Amino acid sequence: MINRLAILFCCALIPIFGQTPDWASVNEEAMRHFQALVRIDSTDPPGNETRVVDYVKKVLEAEGIPVTVAAKDPARANLIARLKGNGTKKPLLIMGHSDTVRVDPAKWIFPPFSATRDSGWVYGRGTRDDKSDLMAAMMTMLLLKRSHAALDRDVIFVSEAGEEASTGPGIEYLVSDHWKEIEAEICLAEGGGVVRIGGKALYARVETTEKQGRTALLVATGESGHGSRPLRGNAVVHLARAVDKVASWEPPTRFNDTTRTYFEKLANVSSPADAARYRDLFDPAKSAAVREYLAGNDPATYSMLHTSISPNMLSAGLQVNAIPSTAEATLDIRALPDENIDAFYEMMRGVINDPAVKVVPAPRNQRPGAAPSRIDLDAYRALEAAFSKVYAVPTIPYMATWATDMAFLRANGVQCYGIGAMTDEEDTAKGFAEHSDQERILEEAVYKHVQFFWEAVRGIAGSKN
Ligand SMILES: [Zn+2]
Repeated sequence: MINRLAILFCCALIPIFGQTPDWASVNEEAMRHFQALVRIDSTDPPGNETRVVDYVKKVLEAEGIPVTVAAKDPARANLIARLKGNGTKKPLLIMGHSDTVRVDPAKWIFPPFSATRDSGWVYGRGTRDDKSDLMAAMMTMLLLKRSHAALDRDVIFVSEAGEEASTGPGIEYLVSDHWKEIEAEICLAEGGGVVRIGGKALYARVETTEKQGRTALLVATGESGHGSRPLRGNAVVHLARAVDKVASWEPPTRFNDTTRTYFEKLANVSSPADAARYRDLFDPAKSAAVREYLAGNDPATYSMLHTSISPNMLSAGLQVNAIPSTAEATLDIRALPDENIDAFYEMMRGVINDPAVKVVPAPRNQRPGAAPSRIDLDAYRALEAAFSKVYAVPTIPYMATWATDMAFLRANGVQCYGIGAMTDEEDTAKGFAEHSDQERILEEAVYKHVQFFWEAVRGIAGSKN
């Protein structure tokens, strides 16, 4: 009975979405494109993403996929390609960014744009961030086209410029000048991935929301004077106290759908000690002790609990013998997605409780705020199914404590899910992560990411009729 059902299922599906790819030959092709993309130096600044677009354009056009090159700056082009569906559902956008962060070549075992393969790894800037996504999304377009996959919705592919250092020619330009061409209901872009610890894939993280960066100044004022006659009202002293107070203050802990589910599910795949901590976060009697532990031992997780404040710049004084009349600290604030920032500043004023120190909001080049993407949609469930099929791992929704370009799409109503390839947790400490001195990815992760992308797109866009 089970076999007959399986046969029915299999043969009912194949003609609808085309043949399952021959992964052995796809792997070879994927690695070739991946290495070629990593070998293109698209360090941002200056970017030169058009070099990447030239490559991608050639590959897609060779297979009859039309492309649009969208460039605000001729050297910093984006590329858009679309495969048509039957229009039952609104489009799916799959996106990878083509620029990479800077390198210091002296710090690399293998040259940063060599894409050297060594002992199961591929080395190079962009291997994790984000040419793995770019290549997998591009490969998915090729595979969809070749297999004549029947789609319930259009699949739009974007090679995006400027993610790392300048959103102007990239996502902002795409949203402002090419919105009709990229408008979608669902989007997959960088932001998550499969976490491997001790050589074993444990779970997949899907980024569904992110904190918002804000900047505020603490400005202390006082009487100036001669350094030989210390003053109680010295602005530096008031500022130092205020910085200490806000930095050691614990803003109110608050969970949203994503973070609540994150900790609940993370507990299922964690060591007994970590699991107990994640569960105790929701126990009013035990939560404070856990938060104290996280503050000292796991700052990334601690930051997910509340709007955070990090004092990162100080300025005061002109010379050693003069008491300055002003002193200033710049705070990096990372606000929860639903934070009322004015009310938060008011709370800070209460914590500082010093009329000599003002909290002054400061401008910041920031991405827009938006509601979290939903985890109760079929698209999210399709991602769970794809991660389960390719890696045999559970999927956990995740709130990034930093910002991504998905913010611009979410602000325009797109349900965005941050995905990514498999990475070794230990590799971060060894200095091979995104933005680290060096960067590398497992060859196996390159291959599996293409399979994941294919399965995810099949689940979200594949025709069900
Ligand atoms: Zn990136």
